[in-house]
Amino acid sequence: MERDTRVLSNEMVEQITSIRRAIHQHPELSNQEHATQALVERTLRDAGLDSISTVAGTGLIVDIHGTPANKQLVLRADMDALPIQEERPDLPFASGQPGVMHACGHDAHTAMLLGAALLLHQSRDQLKGTVRCVFQPAEEAEPLGGRAVVEAGVLENADAALALHIDPDIEAGSIGLRDGAMLAGGMEFTLTVKGRSAHAARPHHGVDSIYISACIVQALQSVVSRRVDPLEPCVLTIGKIHGGTAKNIIAQQTIIEGTARVLSESLREAVPGLILDTANSIAAMHGATVELDVAPGEPVLENDPEVNRLARRAADRVIGAEQIIDLPVGTMGSEDFAFYTQRIPGAMFRLGVRAPDDRHPHPLHHPKLNVDESALPVGAAIFVEAAREFLS
Ligand SMILES: [Zn+2]
Ligand SMILES: [Zn+2]
Repeated sequence: MERDTRVLSNEMVEQITSIRRAIHQHPELSNQEHATQALVERTLRDAGLDSISTVAGTGLIVDIHGTPANKQLVLRADMDALPIQEERPDLPFASGQPGVMHACGHDAHTAMLLGAALLLHQSRDQLKGTVRCVFQPAEEAEPLGGRAVVEAGVLENADAALALHIDPDIEAGSIGLRDGAMLAGGMEFTLTVKGRSAHAARPHHGVDSIYISACIVQALQSVVSRRVDPLEPCVLTIGKIHGGTAKNIIAQQTIIEGTARVLSESLREAVPGLILDTANSIAAMHGATVELDVAPGEPVLENDPEVNRLARRAADRVIGAEQIIDLPVGTMGSEDFAFYTQRIPGAMFRLGVRAPDDRHPHPLHHPKLNVDESALPVGAAIFVEAAREFLS
């Protein structure tokens, strides 16, 4: 595959590849990215960047100032790994941390943004404005780093934000773009069904929270199929249910836990009410009560068309228009970069990392996820090109 790496020198490609491998070998869970944070800071300081500050505990911000300080573009990478045991014993830089793995490519994200920061620093006299690079912690688990970064005021002077995410379904050397809703907004919920215990042989003396919960679990799928517009993506999954204390006792209480994902903010607001309506009605029918607790997760990630066009032009210069894929649909996964795009115009593009001969790539969050490293200079170069144009 032809690839234009004129943006990055061979030395820079080698540097970001070895950084990615070092981070891959030492993965850290969400909000525990101390060594990764230290490695990023050391690399930046060694290259002469010093406008560095800590954010959200284990995150880092580095500003690259040009003159005049007209505009500000935020480039963002996430740094955390997942509680997954890597299953690639052949990999020379496989995770050295049992049960922890960079299975979502955040090692690659961090290395690419580091490379972009070093390059933009070298050519900072050509920037009319500031590039703010955000090395964000905790994309994978609460408390989410994306929310913490935005609440810390990191975007206060920013005009736009750009991020990327690796995509094992797209061949390395290509990227995917999509305007509008790209990734789902979500929430986690807990339904507590309260009945009344009784002897198992005398159910009419009690209110059976397990039976009622079974009815509720079934009926909740009718929220998706009967209450939500079929043209609106919505998924509702019960992942955990627990009730009762013994085989021969009517269960006094059952707890149902699940998650909901949607691609529109209006539906995201409506879903808790629909869940509660359904659960309440069924519980009332049987003389039980329910309580609903909702923990809001990520908002819907809405790609701004203008920022997307900036990314498209940058990618066009790096890989050529024929390597840019227009993604027909979003996905029901979530990404906490959505907190940024909720606040300022922003976009996230998908960076292909599938090796050309890999017919059945493992998905994100898989213990055998593979990242074709030829994608690293592509992602870094698109960041650099986008920043140079935005601040030209
Ligand atoms: Zn992930
Ligand atoms: Zn991710």
